[in-house]
Amino acid sequence: MQHRNIAFIGAGNMTKSIISGMVSSGYPSDRITASNPSRPKLDDLQQHFGINITHDNHAAVNDAEVVVLAVKPQLMEQVCQDLAKHCDLSGKLFVSIAAGIPHKRLQQMLGGEYDVVRTMPNTPSALGKGMTGLYADASLDAQDKTYAGDLMGQVGDIVWVEDEAQINGVIAAAGSSPAYFFLFLQAMQEFTMTQGFDKDTARRMVQQAMLGSAEMVCHNPDLELSELRAQVTSKGGTTAQAVEHFQKNGLDKLVAGAMAAAIARAEEMS
Ligand code: NAP
Repeated sequence: MQHRNIAFIGAGNMTKSIISGMVSSGYPSDRITASNPSRPKLDDLQQHFGINITHDNHAAVNDAEVVVLAVKPQLMEQVCQDLAKHCDLSGKLFVSIAAGIPHKRLQQMLGGEYDVVRTMPNTPSALGKGMTGLYADASLDAQDKTYAGDLMGQVGDIVWVEDEAQINGVIAAAGSSPAYFFLFLQAMQEFTMTQGFDKDTARRMVQQAMLGSAEMVCHNPDLELSELRAQVTSKGGTTAQAVEHFQKNGLDKLVAGAMAAAIARAEEMS
């Protein structure tokens, strides 16, 4: 990854995760600055990663080639307008990690057609196991695109979308989907408890099965998901009975309907 001067506006959870990934993969900490109103988060970042810290967004942005906009979405307009008023933003690359704010809207907030990458990380990014969708318009040059991809690659996998509307597909597939898995696990945990297991034991069993299954998927990229399933499903056996029950009762349709509902909501909100 190129080592550009980078400023994070907002030193919250996502900023900490990204900086942690950057520093552990050798990014020089003296090229990273975080700006935040309150002190404890900044002190924590400085102690752990040796980066520069400030309360002054303007100073952070003035010294940066790349600016990561990492405040809550409801604060984004105020923060961007303030930067536009007090800093020279030309030539800088902006990367927004705020959920739900479209590319054009970010440019409007910044007051010009600056180079902006809109990203959509998900919550497992905090553990370095995230999935981030990225969008930029065609004017972004290849080096900036690579830099932004490498940056979000610090907290997991990435996928670029060609059409910004596809960000809503990323939301349905990766942004919201941790909650689908939690819901499924909860249903499994509750049923397992009816079989005489206490809550913790039931949780341990289903979470370990999910973790193991996810590892199997990741370690076998050449195997179709249906083949992986076939490998653990003997004809006439217990798994086959359970899978048949899901299929007969319309699991595919249920999942597609839920994901379409997430997309519809994302469209309403953008
Ligand atoms: P967070 O922990 O609340 O961090 C936001 C930070 O912004 C806080 O440290 C806050 O400081 C700081 N801040 C508030 N006003 C500011 C200002 N005027 N200038 C500079 N900093 C300011 O939130 P987060 O979870 O890191 O999320 C950050 C962004 O990532 C959000 O837009 C969110 O939509 C997006 N995102 C997060 C996740 C995730 O897994 N966490 C996933 C997807 C997207 P104080 O606390 O001192 O007020």
